[in-house]
Amino acid sequence: MSQHFLIIGSGFSGSVLARELVESLDCHIDIWEEKSHIAGNCFTSPDEETGIMVHHYGPHIFNTNNKEIWDYFNRFSLLKPYIHHVKAVHNGNAYSFPINLKTLNQFFNQSLTSESAKKLIDTMGDHTILHPVNFEEQGMRFLGKDLYQAFYYGYTKKQWGCEPRLLPASVLKRIPVRFDNDNNYHLHPYTGIPVNGYTHFVETLINHPSIHLTKNRKFFPETDTTNFDHVFYTGPLDAYFHFEFGRLGYRTLQFETERYKGDFQDVPQVNYCDEDIPWTRITEHKHLAPWHHFDKTIISREYSKECGKNDIPFYPKRLKVDKTLLARYREKAEKLQGISFLGRLGTYRYLDMQHVIAESIQFAKTVGLMIREHEKFPVFPNEEKS
Ligand code: UDP
Repeated sequence: MSQHFLIIGSGFSGSVLARELVESLDCHIDIWEEKSHIAGNCFTSPDEETGIMVHHYGPHIFNTNNKEIWDYFNRFSLLKPYIHHVKAVHNGNAYSFPINLKTLNQFFNQSLTSESAKKLIDTMGDHTILHPVNFEEQGMRFLGKDLYQAFYYGYTKKQWGCEPRLLPASVLKRIPVRFDNDNNYHLHPYTGIPVNGYTHFVETLINHPSIHLTKNRKFFPETDTTNFDHVFYTGPLDAYFHFEFGRLGYRTLQFETERYKGDFQDVPQVNYCDEDIPWTRITEHKHLAPWHHFDKTIISREYSKECGKNDIPFYPKRLKVDKTLLARYREKAEKLQGISFLGRLGTYRYLDMQHVIAESIQFAKTVGLMIREHEKFPVFPNEEKS
């Protein structure tokens, strides 16, 4: 018998899941999106005045080491190979970022080779930290105080609104350190940007006769679940429970957008690492599509702040207090019937686009298996490690 599923949210997790379910099962799907646009925080659209594709919720660069995920994306929307170049400003000077040989030579005013740079960094690292367990220890151990303070401490305090020692080491490990002149921001072999924007990817995913999208449709857990065989919820986990135990900590972003003639900063992204500059980074959108030429330009100056009641959640903070709260929400969710929680917000994890896609593909497979075996669908796609 055909199943009728409801998916809450049209970001990557909900849209990939919808596509995978309708392609593998006898089902039809409603997607409800409370915003007036699809694609969640990956939403892109061309600016009316300049024609430049704008990444409205900050720069998104698709990067993965998984060829299958790269191919999956390309099946729905063409990814152009793209290398992301970033500069980091400290004390008024612009450096190559992530830290590479150029950065080190400029910062220490030396002409280091790859070998001598490695030795120098090794002598600068704090070797009393044997097993770094947090962001700060990771930075102090592998970069030493000077580089850590210059490029990471201030930026991270602004970005996360807390002392970096309260954050996990994994946040710092996202960014490579190189001893050659490579200034690719990402480590993964497959990096690109969809030529037609991220919104196009989601549009194509959900363009299927068995998927029906409704925008501007808010979801009410108490009343809206009854007509469906199962609900897949990709909104914030704590919001589902009306914040009953309190709010999970998120950072939100605010953007100041300006248009100019010509070029603004020559690179797509400039990070401002010092605490006395209130913004974290400036994105110049046209450089995220270097295959087009534009005479004008549009930039977004990005500010990070604590996510309040009426703000859009971006980054799950996952501090100790949040993890305790998360455990309570998860415990409560596990007792529910007919609902699963997915995606960055539904599972409260700092996931990248590639991880979200992979997880939704896998989750759809699990759902198929559970249907065949007459078992309950999992409530979450992941175990939560403490
Ligand atoms: N970061 C930093 N200095 C920088 C860039 C990043 O300290 O110039 C830190 C910061 O804590 C940030 C983390 O590294 O949250 C991960 O950076 P990434 O660029 O991956 O963040 P995203 O693009 O997801 O905001």
